[in-house]
Amino acid sequence: MVKETAYYDILGVRPEASADDLKKAYRKLALKYHPDKNPNEGDKFKQISQAYEVLSDPEKRSIYDEGGESAIKKGGSGGGGGFTSPMDLFDMFFGGGFGGSRRRERRGKDLVHQLSVTLEEVYMGAVRKLALQKSVICDKCEGRGGKKGAIEKCLTCRGTGVETKIQQVAPGIVQHFEHMCRSCQGQGELIAAKDRCKNCNGKKTVRERKILEVHVEKGMRDEQKIVFSGEGDQEPDLQPGDIVIVLDEKEHPVFKRSREDLIMTMHLQLVEALCGFQKVIKTLDERDLVITSLPGEVIKHESFKCVLGEGMPQYKNPFEKGRLIIQFVVVFPESIPHEVIPALEMSLPGRPQVAVPIDAEECTLTELEPNHGHSHRFTNDDEEEYYMHGPRVQQCATS
Ligand SMILES: [Zn+2]
Ligand SMILES: [Zn+2]
Repeated sequence: MVKETAYYDILGVRPEASADDLKKAYRKLALKYHPDKNPNEGDKFKQISQAYEVLSDPEKRSIYDEGGESAIKKGGSGGGGGFTSPMDLFDMFFGGGFGGSRRRERRGKDLVHQLSVTLEEVYMGAVRKLALQKSVICDKCEGRGGKKGAIEKCLTCRGTGVETKIQQVAPGIVQHFEHMCRSCQGQGELIAAKDRCKNCNGKKTVRERKILEVHVEKGMRDEQKIVFSGEGDQEPDLQPGDIVIVLDEKEHPVFKRSREDLIMTMHLQLVEALCGFQKVIKTLDERDLVITSLPGEVIKHESFKCVLGEGMPQYKNPFEKGRLIIQFVVVFPESIPHEVIPALEMSLPGRPQVAVPIDAEECTLTELEPNHGHSHRFTNDDEEEYYMHGPRVQQCATS
């Protein structure tokens, strides 16, 4: 039982979430609430980042589970609960994404987009068209923002776009304050209203709709990135960043993917499990595979078998495929007609002899109801108690 669930709630996962669940949740939310995309969400991006930073580290996660947020903020996690800046965490996660400007000074931001793909699409490969908005240099003014010669250097900041103020904070100690120049809005230059480019309104760039053709290749994985180099937002005097497409593989109703393997569940009636079966499986590319059990072989409940070469294609080597793993679920009949029991018993392995002591007490078997004695639904607390103390078995009804 975890002390608090706030961090889990922020990421929209349950406290039992696996490392993969957490990654996925962070990826989705961080992309959604990144200030570039959603500037009005205030602290949300930061909260997501902090929650992920703690929960993605097994040590910090166990501290949090035990002591909650206060334990994290108090404890030895980077001195006084220091958190990585949300932008840095985001960059680390997406490998130099959005805020790349710190490392590559003269390069624009990368644009990260998520693309939902089906298992069929990564099995067969697909071309997907993605429409997005990006900034491009205004072609009317060639990115100058106004008429040639009408652009003047801002005198307030001497063209730097930044104003520096020196303030004495204590005798002999001065501090430099830097903030964006208000006269030119940080542009470093001024254009008189009448000379401003009408097309971009002096902003030098315009928003444009762009259709990207994304080639989803066979065998690509969930979270795999497809990079369109230099296709990011254009800005004057900056090398444009990249557009990065991150694949998000949707769940499939039949197949679960585990790297190159596909895993499916197959229900067998008891007669099929005992006397043999033949089944047809529809593959992701709509072929029919027929599988047949060996004569006399019994398929056990929850046992596995596999078909080689019918899993996922390998990325960049799509003729090699993984395994199709089948887990069998044997469906037992509710009851058997009395008259067939002797014949059935004849065909099954013999039953063991049981010695009943003379003073043994006779009991009646009743159905197990996990929530026996409770009128409400099975809640988390009940579940916990159930696992801690075992099921509340009904008392033996002695006769
Ligand atoms: Zn313009
Ligand atoms: Zn200025």
